[in-house]
Amino acid sequence: MKNPISSAFFLVMLLLLGALGAMYYVKAEWTPPTLALTPEQSTASTRTVFTITAADKDSALHSLHVVAVQGGNTVDIINKTLPPGTRELREEFSLPKAGLKNEPLTLTITVKDTSWHRLGRGNRAQIVRQMDIDSKPPVISVLSGQHNVNHGGTGLVVYSTNEELAVSGVRLGDHFFPGYPYQPGKYLSFFALPYNIDPKAVTPVLVATDLAGNESTVGFNFRPLMKKFKHDSINISDNFLQSKMGQFADLYPDATTPIDLFLKVNSELRAKNVNFLVELGKDTVPQKLWDGTFVRLPNSAPMAAFADNRTYLYQSNAVDNQTHLGVDLASLAASPVPAGNTGRIVLAEFMGIYGNVVVIDHGFGLQSLYSHLSEIHVQTGETVQRSQIIGKTGATGMAGGDHLHFGVLVSGIEVQPIEWWDPQWIDHNITSKLN
Ligand SMILES: [Zn+2]
Repeated sequence: MKNPISSAFFLVMLLLLGALGAMYYVKAEWTPPTLALTPEQSTASTRTVFTITAADKDSALHSLHVVAVQGGNTVDIINKTLPPGTRELREEFSLPKAGLKNEPLTLTITVKDTSWHRLGRGNRAQIVRQMDIDSKPPVISVLSGQHNVNHGGTGLVVYSTNEELAVSGVRLGDHFFPGYPYQPGKYLSFFALPYNIDPKAVTPVLVATDLAGNESTVGFNFRPLMKKFKHDSINISDNFLQSKMGQFADLYPDATTPIDLFLKVNSELRAKNVNFLVELGKDTVPQKLWDGTFVRLPNSAPMAAFADNRTYLYQSNAVDNQTHLGVDLASLAASPVPAGNTGRIVLAEFMGIYGNVVVIDHGFGLQSLYSHLSEIHVQTGETVQRSQIIGKTGATGMAGGDHLHFGVLVSGIEVQPIEWWDPQWIDHNITSKLN
């Protein structure tokens, strides 16, 4: 005869166990959290900022532990329990200045989730990385001797370092012109001496940061060659407004009159387009694609020069002032436009005041621009040869008549184009430094 009480007890125990089992099954998911550590290099200094990202979709994250071990010495960098419900984690840290020597260490990052798996210890993700410690800034040697740079023109500095670099280049005021590896152990940086910077007030310096984040700054032999830029006035006729402003009307629906629209286009849209070109300047390859002097539009007369300062007059009143960044060349209407040099098309479309415009990347941050085209014969991504016809001259965008607006840019900053038509200038300032 069975005892009814013990039978009931047995049943209750069975149900309880079943419930616990079901809970364990639900709570004890088996998937470990995701875990990543950047930067991925194996060299660091106390300046290196590491970023940990972790996530757990099934259960929340429970704890984070970062530890550095050097010989028998263990240093806790982070050791914490995370707030309940933490599903994503992003945490920055640097190696502590105290307690670690200037020698290799092992960095271990561990995150656990709140799963009941492993008898309540949770699923675990771990990164173990052997790190070399480098606290010495790179030693930069400038290899190019003279840097006599025209105001508004291009400079080139060639240098070497004693270790691999994460980033380097020329800093000039607020501008930074990236440097690129050029030959084994050698780097180069093309930089602009922008027309709108006072060359007597700022001096370019070469900056280099190694993989561990140590930075060096050195000066180099720099002499600015002062230039006088022209000033002229441009009359804005109602005729011009009537024929040109229609193409921009949908961009500024709030413009009340044609001259109002003109002023918005000439200042706001111009500034937008200039900023876009700075961004486009990053679309470059670490290679010299060009060779020899740049090709100038054949049989053309210069109509406007680089950095001409223009006052815009409307009904005899000065209404705006802008700087013309390029050279205007006029030939016969719809003349074929040759690529200034070999390169890669990075822009071939209608863009604001430039109208139909083509930009060619020649590598190392050097680009050329062809604007107001009536026809474009190339596509983005295509490689073009020096002299290859890329389109036809026209008057699209803010152009009063058929001409080619030709520009040269260094990391997106407009520079004096005539230097690139001058074989002597190229020889003295560029080729002799590269060879
Ligand atoms: Zn122009």
